[in-house]
Amino acid sequence: MSEIADKFGGIYVHIPFCVKKCPYCDFYSITDLSGVSPFLKALRREIETVSVTDQVFDTLYIGGGTPSVLEAESIRQIIDAANTHFTVCDDIEITLEVNPGTISRESLRDFRRAGVNRLNIGIQSFQSNNLRFLGRIHSAAEAALTIEWARQAGFDNIGLDLIYGLPAQDKENWLGDLTRAIETETEHLSCYMLTIESDTPLGRDVAAARIQLPSDGTVRELFDTTIDFLTTHGFVQYEISNFARQTGAGSEPRFSRHNQKYWSFAPYIGLGPSAHSFIEPERYWNHRRLENYMRQIEAGQSPIAEREKLTREQMIMEAIYLGLRTTPGIELDAFGKRFGINFLNSFEAKMADFEKDDLLKLTQTHCALTRKGMAFLDSIAVMFTSQDIV
Ligand code: SF4
Repeated sequence: MSEIADKFGGIYVHIPFCVKKCPYCDFYSITDLSGVSPFLKALRREIETVSVTDQVFDTLYIGGGTPSVLEAESIRQIIDAANTHFTVCDDIEITLEVNPGTISRESLRDFRRAGVNRLNIGIQSFQSNNLRFLGRIHSAAEAALTIEWARQAGFDNIGLDLIYGLPAQDKENWLGDLTRAIETETEHLSCYMLTIESDTPLGRDVAAARIQLPSDGTVRELFDTTIDFLTTHGFVQYEISNFARQTGAGSEPRFSRHNQKYWSFAPYIGLGPSAHSFIEPERYWNHRRLENYMRQIEAGQSPIAEREKLTREQMIMEAIYLGLRTTPGIELDAFGKRFGINFLNSFEAKMADFEKDDLLKLTQTHCALTRKGMAFLDSIAVMFTSQDIV
């Protein structure tokens, strides 16, 4: 087996359809569902033509967009096509992203029967005022019902997405969402800070001062609240925004196996419009717009829009950035073996400064951000430069 096959890979499938566009979202998706059928045909062709030799996959993540706008039969066909075309592990983790307002008790049962064994539910908030601000199509009651139906359908590995940092949101409001989330006994929680993308309706509202975001201090308080509350209630933080809990004594917390690919530099392939792939040392991505993606495939061409070969220095910097996102941090021994450099020798001076400011902690085996450092990930990561490498 080649070097790239030493690590199990992940398969990501992007479903580019949503019922309605949320004002803060810059993921690629469209609301014209008339293209679903030709898209599925093109996706099957893409799956059949992707050539990845010597790679075994242990995750399939069907995300978007809103994959739950598809029929369960279409999801089954995607799973079957992936299982047939790629070499996959017997215990492959198959995650489907679903959004309340697009599913029913029956459709969840059918997704389970189709082979989906993990759900990621885009709850965002359990409170009507927050959901209205976020422009979501579902109500607070539908959010709760979706989780109930998912359990009834037999899902025992469920992740919820929540968003915080909304205008006028205070600690009490955010604790309301966190409390509701843990009451569902979810196995996994992703708590994302609302990020403002300039080319979105929300971005334009913020730029024009029509909407006032909470102060940095408030956002920091909400971030601290998230960690304090969830760790007190049995969750393990394993990445800045991601938390998982054990489901039995001595068992591993239910981390998202797929998400971990992105932070550990594991190989992954992305299928569908705008999907990104990484097979060391190359990163490549598909055409973003559905019509361009389909045009390529219908013409018998590859849907890949661009490729970028990472230099050794780029790989090192990326490994630092991704490693620092995780709670354990950068594993010094593995880093040294991978890149043939001594992390401590190269970055000693920088780390001393960060340690002094309580932004970074160093152990015998790892270099990780402190909680305070996590709030400044981007500015800390850019301070590590390739000129430091010795
Ligand atoms: S449902 Fe998700 S992918 Fe679709 S527009 Fe809203 S945030 Fe974006």
